[in-house]
Amino acid sequence: LQITPIDPERWLPPGKKAALCFSIDDVHPGRSDQHYDGGGDLDKGVLGLLRQLLLRHPQLCMTLFTTPDWREISPKPSRAMRLIPWIRERTYLAKILPKGSRSIARAPEFVGYLRELPRTEIALHGLHHIHTGAEVHVEFQHESLVECSHVLHEALSIFEQAGLSRPLGMCPPGWNAPPALVAAMVVNEFSYVASSRDIRTPIVPGATANMSGIKNTPLIQPARLESGLLHFSTNFQATSPIERAFEVIRNSGILAIKGHAVKNAMGFVALDGIDAVYFNYLDLLFDKLQREFGDTIWWTTFGEIATRINSIAPTEAPE
Ligand SMILES: [Zn+2]
Repeated sequence: LQITPIDPERWLPPGKKAALCFSIDDVHPGRSDQHYDGGGDLDKGVLGLLRQLLLRHPQLCMTLFTTPDWREISPKPSRAMRLIPWIRERTYLAKILPKGSRSIARAPEFVGYLRELPRTEIALHGLHHIHTGAEVHVEFQHESLVECSHVLHEALSIFEQAGLSRPLGMCPPGWNAPPALVAAMVVNEFSYVASSRDIRTPIVPGATANMSGIKNTPLIQPARLESGLLHFSTNFQATSPIERAFEVIRNSGILAIKGHAVKNAMGFVALDGIDAVYFNYLDLLFDKLQREFGDTIWWTTFGEIATRINSIAPTEAPE
């Protein structure tokens, strides 16, 4: 699989030395009086915290990777079901929500709140965020191109019904972007996928991401996959030290910070869930970066970078 890094001089605007992208996964209209807040609590919940960050840091932009019809309740398979081998891969091993119960097309207040957030890109995070078998939340696994394309088509149509503009990119649930999904994203004219995550590999020029998602992708640079789709890696989260952020910026990379909208999904706690503690850390980090690097950082979104790259060098798959 050919993965071509894109050099900073080809994607950074004049005068900028590095970029910062902040993205949140699992955004959906669920509320804390249902199973948990995924954004449905609006100003009283995670979206309110994110809005405060945007207000406190007028340079900050963010991408909300939103699931148009969230059906997950818990990401953990129930134990009893795990003991029955034959049905394991063919059955939903955890209780799931009926289709449409958390559809963004039925949540006008939620969508209205998203649309009023300043400097916010709304992109895609799967369709239902569920799968049969042990990996409950890994939505794309062994499906064919046609099956992936069908899922994407349904997701795009719910975005449209909800009155949201067409998303430019997707972060796939559980980071997993098999080749059939990437091909289906190209067919459906997406600009980018944000699959890889690596928060351990040291930040050096040419470092690659090898933890979650597509392997061997550039850790701090955008890249073009063989199919032509652009790719961005996540390299920072709540547990990462501030020095890591400084190293990405000093190496002219994209500091790609991840958060999750759902902190506690029925006992499954996300280390990078957006809560008051992560809020304070990000608040401090953004202040420090601004003080140290000022206007040399391009505070932007994956969508904006992808659009810039594609407007300079039209999409062409190196064959
Ligand atoms: Zn997710």
